[in-house]
This record gives sequence, structure tokens and C-alpha cells, in this order.
Amino acid sequence: MIEQIDHIGIAVRSIEESTPLYRDVLGLEYEGSEIVEEQGVKVAFFKIGQAMIELLEPLDQTGPVARFIEKNGEGIHHLALRCDDIEGQREHVAGRGVRLLSDRPLDGAHGKLISFLHPKDTGRVLLELTQRREEGEGKFEDKT
Ligand code: ZN
Repeated sequence: MIEQIDHIGIAVRSIEESTPLYRDVLGLEYEGSEIVEEQGVKVAFFKIGQAMIELLEPLDQTGPVARFIEKNGEGIHHLALRCDDIEGQREHVAGRGVRLLSDRPLDGAHGKLISFLHPKDTGRVLLELTQRREEGEGKFEDKT
């Protein structure tokens, strides 16, 4: 079951340069940042109620977020939907003709499990399914 919007991912060239807008101008609570090797990005989170804004900065010029910025410039990159059972949700959407971008859930930031749906099957909206591993786990650890 999909429970709520977990976060909105925004591709930026530099988290350092983008942070003042979200933290100082908008006054959102900065939750910390983290390197997500598997996605080739550094991420920073800002809390809004139960949801978050996730800034994504590419670690190099070859990853998917770097290519996104090259093509579209900075901007909204994906929408993440929190579910209670990512394996079940993957099967559910796959059974209804929506392709997944990985053959298993991947490691995301916050120690969460994530899977992206194929944007060609979702009206070009990049949707991320995300599941917190367990209550208390995935608590934010600032690794940078
Ligand atoms: Zn995300």
C-alpha cells in the first residue's frame, strides 16, 4: 500500500549553493546529507511535515542525475511514494504493465529501500517507491 509522499527529488548542480534557498529563505529544517553510491549522487534532505525535499547533486558527469541536468537543467527530478511493502508494491505495478528500472529494490538514502518505475510507463513522471526498513532504523546519520 502506498501511504504518503515520502519526498520530492530536485536535481541541483551544487547542494551547497542550493541549501540557502530551502533552509534560510523557506525556513525548512535541514536534516543532513549523505552519499548514495548506488545512485551516483550526494543528497541533502529538508523536512516538511512528514515529507521531505531531497536535493540531488551528481558525484560525477556520468550518472543519471548528471545526464538529467545536462539535458533539462536543474529542477524537479522525481516524486517518491512511501509504501509499507516495496516487494509487494513492485509486483503489483509490474502485474499492471508498469516496468521497473531495477530487478530488485536498491539501497537509497536514510537506509531505505527504493525502486524507480519506468518513466515511459508513467506519463514521463519518474516515480520512486520507497520503504523504510524498520521503525527507528534509517534514522538520519550525517555521513558528510
Ligand atoms: Zn528520491
